Amino acid sequence: MKILTEHIDVPNIDTIDVFMKHGGYSAVQKAIKKMTPDEVTEEVKKSGLRGRGGAGFPVGMKWSFLAKPEGVPRYLVCNADESEPGTFKDHYLMWKSPHTLIEGMIVSSFALGANTSYIYVRGELMYVINILEKAIQEAYDKGLLGKNILGSGYDLDLFVQPGGGAYICGEETALLESLEGKRGNPRNKPPFPAVKGLWQCPTVVNNVESIAATSWIVNNGGDAYAAIGVGRSTGTKLISASGHIKKPGVYEIPLGITVEDFIYSDEWCGGIRDGHKLKAVVAGGSSVPILPAELILTTAAGEKRLMTYESLSDGGFATGTMLGSGGFVVMDETACVVHNTLTFAKFYHHESCGQCSPCREGTGWMDKVLHRIEHGQGRKEDIDLLVDVAKKIEGNTICPLGDAASWPVAAAIRHFRDEFEWHIEHPELATKPGAVFMRK
Ligand code: NAD
Ligand code: SF4
Repeated sequence: MKILTEHIDVPNIDTIDVFMKHGGYSAVQKAIKKMTPDEVTEEVKKSGLRGRGGAGFPVGMKWSFLAKPEGVPRYLVCNADESEPGTFKDHYLMWKSPHTLIEGMIVSSFALGANTSYIYVRGELMYVINILEKAIQEAYDKGLLGKNILGSGYDLDLFVQPGGGAYICGEETALLESLEGKRGNPRNKPPFPAVKGLWQCPTVVNNVESIAATSWIVNNGGDAYAAIGVGRSTGTKLISASGHIKKPGVYEIPLGITVEDFIYSDEWCGGIRDGHKLKAVVAGGSSVPILPAELILTTAAGEKRLMTYESLSDGGFATGTMLGSGGFVVMDETACVVHNTLTFAKFYHHESCGQCSPCREGTGWMDKVLHRIEHGQGRKEDIDLLVDVAKKIEGNTICPLGDAASWPVAAAIRHFRDEFEWHIEHPELATKPGAVFMRK
C-alpha cells in the first residue's frame, strides 16, 4: 500500500508534466473546484492522520484549533527542517518527488484559508531547495499557484526558506522565530502557533509527510485513509531504516505491521547483516528511548510489537519507546551502547539553544560523564549521577529538546546497565579498539 511513494521511482517524476500524467494535482482540482475549506478539513479529521514529524498530534484537530480572527492573515508553515539523527524520509520525498509536497501545500493552505505559505527546509539540503524552487515555478506557470488558482478566486503564494543548520530550528516555535529573521530560540507554549504563530498570527506548522498525505485523503476520502492501519494509527508512514540491516533505506509501510516483519522481511529491512544478531533498536529517531532486542519485538503484555504509535509505547518508557519521526536505527551485537549514548549526548549538548539551565548545563554534564566512562575514566557513582541528571532535565525545560536529551541516556542505563558497569570496571578492555561488551 503506497500513498506517498507510489510513483517515486518513475523517471522525471520531479517534473510537473510527468507528475500530472500520473494523477498529480488532481487533489488541487478537486479541493478548490468541488469542495469547501471546511469539507477538506473534515476529510483530514476523518482520516485520523497524525503528525508525522514525531509528536503524532492529530492533524485535523490541529487545523481546527487555528484561530480565525477577521482581517488577520493565517499561515501554513511546512516543517522540512528534518534534523533528527536517523531520520531522512522528508529529505527523500522532497528530493525525489517535490510536487507531492507542493500539491499537499496547496490543498492544506486552501483548507486553512492561508494565502501565503512557507516550506522551511534544513539549510544543508541546498540541492533539495533548488529542486523545490524549480518545482514551485512550474506550479506557478501552470496556474496552480499565484493569483486566482484555476479560476477559483483563491490566491496562494508559496516560498521556500532555507534554515541555517541548527537542529533546534526544527522545534516549531524556534522555526517561526528563525523564519521571522531572529535567532531560533523556542518560545513558551501556550500560546500555541495555532493562535499566535508567525508574526503573532494564527499559524499551522505541519511536517512534510503530514502535508503530503492530505492530497491522497482529498482524492480518496478520509474513511479510505482511516481504513489503513490499526486503531488510532491510521494510514501509511515513511520509515528511515538504517544501521546493521541488509537493506537500509526509506520505506513506506502501512501502520500496523509487526516490528519483527519490518526488520526481518525481505520486503523491508531484509534482516540483520550476515552472521550477526539483533542487539537493540532506536525506533523513532535519537530522541526516543533505545530498546533491547527482546523488548522491541514483544510488548509488555507479551504480544508482538507493532509499528504503531500505541504498540511501540506500550508499557510506557519502562518497556516501550515511541514511533517518533520514524528514524529506525538497528544495532547488532558489535554496537557499543555506551558509545552510541555518548554520540547522542554530544549532539544534544551541541544543539541546546542554552535558554534553560537544566538543558544547557545538564546536556553538558551528561556529555562529560559519558565521555569519561567511554574513555576508561568512569567512576562507579557516574551511572547513578547520569540517571539523576537526566531526571532533573526531563519536564523542566521550555521545549522538548531537554526531554529528548535525557530519555536516551536514562533508557540506555535502564536496559544496558551491565554494559556501562563493564566500561567502568574494565577500562583497559573498554578502550581497546574494536572491543565490545558481550552479554552472556
Ligand atoms: P508537541 O506534542 O508539543 O506538539 C505537537 C503539535 O501539536 C504542535 O504543532 C503543537 O503546536 C500542537 N498542539 C499541541 N497541543 C495543542 C493545543 N492545545 N492547541 C493547539 N495546538 C496544539 O510536540 P512537538 O514539540 O511539536 O514535537 C516533539 C516531537 O518532535 C518529538 O516527539 C520528536 O519525535 C519530534 N522531533 C522530530 C524531529 C525531526 O527531524 N523530524 C526532530 C526533533 C524532534
Ligand atoms: Fe533551548 Fe534546551 Fe531549553 Fe529547548 S530545552 S529551549 S533547546 S535550552
